[in-house]
Amino acid sequence: MLYQSTRGNEKRIASAQAIARGLSQDGGLYVPETFPELSEYAITDLISRPYRDRAAYVMGLFLSDFSSEEILQYASEAYSESSFCDKRIAPLHKLDDSTHFLELWHGPTSAFKDMALQMLPRLLVASLHKANEKREVCVLVATSGDTGKAALEGFKNVKGTKIMVFYPSNGVSDVQQLQMITQEGENINVVAVEGNFDDAQTGVKLIFSDEALRKELSEAGFFLSSANSINWGRLVPQIAYYVSAYCDLLAEGEIKFGEKVNFCVPTGNFGNILAAYYAEKMGLPIGKLICASNKNDVLTQFINTGTYNKNRKFYTTVSPSMDILVSSNLERFLFETAGKDGKIVSEFMTKLDEVGSYNVPDLIKAEIKRIFACGMCNEDDTMKTIDDAFSNQNYLMDTHTAVAYKVLKDYRAQTEDSAKTVVVSTASPFKFCDSVLYALNQSQDGNGLGLLDTLSRATGSPVPAPLAELSGKPIRFSGVVAIENMKQEVTKFLKG
Ligand SMILES: *Cc1c(COP(=O)(O)O)cnc(C)c1O
Repeated sequence: MLYQSTRGNEKRIASAQAIARGLSQDGGLYVPETFPELSEYAITDLISRPYRDRAAYVMGLFLSDFSSEEILQYASEAYSESSFCDKRIAPLHKLDDSTHFLELWHGPTSAFKDMALQMLPRLLVASLHKANEKREVCVLVATSGDTGKAALEGFKNVKGTKIMVFYPSNGVSDVQQLQMITQEGENINVVAVEGNFDDAQTGVKLIFSDEALRKELSEAGFFLSSANSINWGRLVPQIAYYVSAYCDLLAEGEIKFGEKVNFCVPTGNFGNILAAYYAEKMGLPIGKLICASNKNDVLTQFINTGTYNKNRKFYTTVSPSMDILVSSNLERFLFETAGKDGKIVSEFMTKLDEVGSYNVPDLIKAEIKRIFACGMCNEDDTMKTIDDAFSNQNYLMDTHTAVAYKVLKDYRAQTEDSAKTVVVSTASPFKFCDSVLYALNQSQDGNGLGLLDTLSRATGSPVPAPLAELSGKPIRFSGVVAIENMKQEVTKFLKG
């Protein structure tokens, strides 16, 4: 299977090249030329298999320049019982007869980005090898919290890679900071940057665009890359868990083969829900994809009106991983629905750059209407939903998952749709302790790690092992640098 750019100006390339390059040179994202078919036979065969086999099968359909042994090996390493706390890897929790939660947070960082970032480093190293790249890759990440830690866990001790994470010195929670500064691994470095997330991100962008630095590092045998959610190697592992959830519903006798299921997804950059859309294009029986936004509801407005407009107020919310104004993976959806016409996509993206908005034609609106529903959940309702689900249904959820569950309840109140629905649960409630305690009307005694125990006592749920283990870990990285010294830190790390 070959890949093409969403802007349409590039030759078709193999998946390893698409993963090695990340972003296409014309500025577009790589997408598969066609979608492989998921047959009834294949789904039935996967029902009795463990997660790694399901994931390897689904990814193998897209990565045809990799051998099936290679992919199974990477999937076995990525989704192993030593890094996931639940041996089912992506288990379903049944809330009631029509609602299940797909828990994607049993990995090493207790959030769903692990599902992709445990896999990406292995795919990236193999892709670089296939592309005959002799230099060692150094991944640079600017993080507002979750992505940095998930990338560190994914890349730690992966041969042929180094990773360096920059986080804002006053922009991450105590737990997030501890997760990063106690990180284990020989090939890693973590540095705090004076300033906020934008400052750290600007610093990393400046490093990427510094030609002299690139040349200097290249001569020393290194090249720089990112672990961004636009890389195909981060998207393809996400398609697998939708197929896996369907298999589990079949296995548990919750649905009959062919019965359509809805998925409700808390959305930010549109990567997670796009993977569900791709699963539907492969033939997975999906009814509606319900796109849930927090107060930053630019996607809800887009789905309702066909106009994407980033000229709006940006809110900082209790579901920070969904605080986004430009959802980069939406470009891939536009490409599919615009008849795979890169010129049309380029026009939308140019308008987005120049005036901050674009408007899609009726043909695209029709496809949006066919498959998507959407809704927004404000801060108060997020809190009420957590409290309500815990008090009345004995299920504890984090703030992002609560946004999705509230949007699902609203959708059900407004439509006749009675299809079984899977809510995609993207983080452990312990990752957002202070908000969850607040929602439950519990006092937020203690700070940092103390809050983990407070929440555990208040709810009777155990602290996830990777978070509980933090208190015994030595601090390895205590450096803080000014933005203008970030570049120097990179050279020091790579060249010694
Ligand atoms: C990243 C993230 C999301 C948003 O996922 P997208 O793929 O960016 O739409 C939702 N919840 C959590 C906890 C996340 O970390």
